[in-house]
Amino acid sequence: MTIFQGPVFDMARKQFTTIADYLEIDESDRERLLYPKRAVAISCPIHLDDGRTAVFQGYRVQHHLTLGPTKGGTRFAKSVDMGEVAALAVWMSWKCALAGLPYGGAKGGITVDPSALSLREMEALSRRYMQELIPFVGPHVDVMAPDMGTNEQVMAWFMDTYSMYQGRTVSEIVTGKPVQSGGTEGRREATGLGVAHLTARAMSELAIDPSRATAIIQGFGNVGSVTAFELLRRGVKIIGVSDHTSCFFDRNGLNVEAMVNHVGRHGSLRGFEADEFDPVDLLIQPCDILIPATMERVIDADVARGLKCRILAEGANGPTTPEADAVLEDRGKDIFVIPDILCNAGGVIVSYFEWVQDLQQFFWGYDEVVSRLNQILDKSFHDVVERAKRDGISHRTAAMGIGVNRVRLAKKKRGLFP
Ligand code: GLU
Repeated sequence: MTIFQGPVFDMARKQFTTIADYLEIDESDRERLLYPKRAVAISCPIHLDDGRTAVFQGYRVQHHLTLGPTKGGTRFAKSVDMGEVAALAVWMSWKCALAGLPYGGAKGGITVDPSALSLREMEALSRRYMQELIPFVGPHVDVMAPDMGTNEQVMAWFMDTYSMYQGRTVSEIVTGKPVQSGGTEGRREATGLGVAHLTARAMSELAIDPSRATAIIQGFGNVGSVTAFELLRRGVKIIGVSDHTSCFFDRNGLNVEAMVNHVGRHGSLRGFEADEFDPVDLLIQPCDILIPATMERVIDADVARGLKCRILAEGANGPTTPEADAVLEDRGKDIFVIPDILCNAGGVIVSYFEWVQDLQQFFWGYDEVVSRLNQILDKSFHDVVERAKRDGISHRTAAMGIGVNRVRLAKKKRGLFP
């Protein structure tokens, strides 16, 4: 089992041990639940614009096949390796199970800095990645979606490449596609809509008036920017925002609309006119709501000790280390954590709606998508908060406990072949 290594997979393993202890899972069943079923590593050669050839390393990990096809995003980032992708696939499994979706978890990616590629190189790499994976994916085998560094356009290239090989349009092979090419209304906004919806639920749980609340958001990509906009719409003042280029903080509130427009024109916050702030200090400023929406492991034990928020809404996957979780537990109930597999589940939930619509070729309107999304999120939120109260455990242990147990029971009922 040694191919799954590194700090991110270690984190998934430690979390799983906590859950397995909580659920009293037999030692002999633990490996079967944690370790991915399949892991593919591929080399993707492409022609660069200057005439040279470059080879990029790609991965796809399918965690378990017990409940249906595997499901999860594709990440284009410098950090991507087998361990990171495997951890993200494991988290996708618990996330899908908590939401009640008929999927196992998967994740894939390419080790690349997408900002260093031209549009043509990006298309070539996306198409080659999908082509290499054709023997391992399918609408009832493994269904990809966007993640960090990929978007609707990349999904359209994936879908087109797969379809060209099949000789017909197979829109249900990926989700997160443009609405014009078999995508669903609401998928692009779904993760941010979900983060904002659940944050509003947490505010009402804590009797925080949104019109008096402040929020800090780390990350201003698809998740962070939509979340900022949705919270603003509910009356929340956004006082801190950062992305990989810039960081801004203003107690009186930032101009979120101008920021969204700037990112739309320039691709990032670089050059936005406001006073720069130290990104290291951003997370520990006093605020009501803190939303990490970038990478794994940005909240370690030190940061956790310094947090001055009342709600920690995890838009990113794996932003909080197990050591930080221990600090948060020591601090008692002073921070209301909305754990990642609940908080950012809006993306995969609407991906599921997209897949269902594509399979049926029967499409829903935006309002139907959002109302069905909120129904699932409300039920998951209720399940997690009630379980945590009932068993005196953290929200993360409750959320993962529900997810892991559903996968465990499904495996148990099916038995072990042969
Ligand atoms: N990449 C997203 C996630 O981490 C979405 C996955 C999907 O829609 O399949 O949840």
